[in-house]
Amino acid sequence: MSISRDDILAWLQDVARIIAENRDYLVQLDSPIGDADHGANMDRGFRAIMGKMGEISDKDIGTIFKTAAMTLIATVGGASGPLYGTFFLQAGTKTAGKMEISIEEWAVVLEAALAGIVMRGKAEVNQKTMVDALTPAVQALKQAVAEGKSQAEALELSAEAARQGMLATIPMLALKGRASYLGERSIGHQDPGATSSYLILNSAAKVWNGV
Ligand code: ADP
Ligand code: MG
Repeated sequence: MSISRDDILAWLQDVARIIAENRDYLVQLDSPIGDADHGANMDRGFRAIMGKMGEISDKDIGTIFKTAAMTLIATVGGASGPLYGTFFLQAGTKTAGKMEISIEEWAVVLEAALAGIVMRGKAEVNQKTMVDALTPAVQALKQAVAEGKSQAEALELSAEAARQGMLATIPMLALKGRASYLGERSIGHQDPGATSSYLILNSAAKVWNGV
């Protein structure tokens, strides 16, 4: 089993669909602890990526990710634009020239992509950001790969870890980004960025596992 260039394109298409479907939900999550734009930001960004599908459809995975990164940086704005932009830029660096990658390589790609977000945003786990969904997802993926689990199982475990990480942001006190301005009042709300990160990784598991 492996992940092909076409699988990556199918994933981005599914993410665009899922983000559009969840646009209002992400806006709602960003209302009490932010400025109610996360859904709109992400939807704008992934729609713009869809507009680039024609020009990237025959390219290698690295070029696809780098194009997605540049598009997100140019269109999303806010905190999440540069952060997801860095995520895909780092993913693109790790996949330069590749037409397919193994699940072991995907674990390395995702770890580098998360490291890019951490380098850029300086958030640690437990600070109520997307890092809280991505970190357990990367850990679960690496562990599954190390244990020799199947690609399908590894992807599923990773998505489930992201979901748990997303839910774990609810009782957290926000220490990064706009939500941190609220102090204690940020407690009790699910982080919008952790939610979009879960949606993105869950989409990869579903699309690549054919469910
Ligand atoms: P903005 O906060 O500028 O309005 P968005 O609403 O699009 O941008 O994105 C908000 C999300 O960005 C938060 O829910 C959080 O997950 C994420 N975020 C904010 N700051 C950081 C950071 N320093 N590191 C990681 N993620 C962050
Ligand atoms: Mg916002």
